[in-house]
Amino acid sequence: MRIGAHVDSADPLSEAAARTAEAAQFFLSDPQGWKAPKPREDADRLRAAEVDLYVHAPYVINVATLNNRIRIPSRKLLLGHATAAAEIGAKGLIVHGGHVNAGDDLAVGFDNWRKTFAYAADSGGFTLPVLIENTAGGDNACARRLDALARLWDAVGEYEVGFCLDTCHAHAGGEELLDLVDRVKAITGRIDLVHANNSKDAFGSGRDRHDNLAGGSIDPDLVVDVIRAANAPVIVETPGGPDGQGADIAFLRDRLGAGSPAA
Ligand SMILES: [Zn+2]
Repeated sequence: MRIGAHVDSADPLSEAAARTAEAAQFFLSDPQGWKAPKPREDADRLRAAEVDLYVHAPYVINVATLNNRIRIPSRKLLLGHATAAAEIGAKGLIVHGGHVNAGDDLAVGFDNWRKTFAYAADSGGFTLPVLIENTAGGDNACARRLDALARLWDAVGEYEVGFCLDTCHAHAGGEELLDLVDRVKAITGRIDLVHANNSKDAFGSGRDRHDNLAGGSIDPDLVVDVIRAANAPVIVETPGGPDGQGADIAFLRDRLGAGSPAA
């Protein structure tokens, strides 16, 4: 099982080494901005790396919304990120499930997701797996609660769509972690990546504040159980830089009985 961390994008391989990580996730552009990613000068080195790479799409992307001025640029930005992520040999592009505005019909939001994959297919297709991630908050989210996730998967099921399960988002979003993997897989058929995070906030709070695994309101053993059941690569998106994340990775390796990777 490959275990890694979300790291700064300037030098992801050094960041991974500083955490003894086997995987690294990072942004290719400002996560709060709309700029398309620039080609990276270290693309060859990244492609050849032993470390598994994942790219997290910007947070501003919301392909579900009925607001054209957000949805249309979101599709383009997502496709641009997929192309750029494939160029550095990333294993997947993670994007949040998105939401519709209050009063808007969630069914249209799910259909907008379908249209996103149709738009990508018309443009030559996504060149790497796109992993939709569950989110923590909001009343009109596409991937907060599993009843919505099931409707989302009904809409996009004809396309190859991956799933990223975030333990903080599930807990804060109001989904019990116990047996969660089975309930998710009954819908998606797959979990491609686990974001292993504890939560600073209570169950069902709808707040998205990650904590280190031994802290927070989630029993860390439940996070370990989720990872074991998912049997998928793991990224910690926890605070504390190399020290805090390195400790989280070491904690997971210890509990999962996975030895340190060969240097
Ligand atoms: Zn996450």
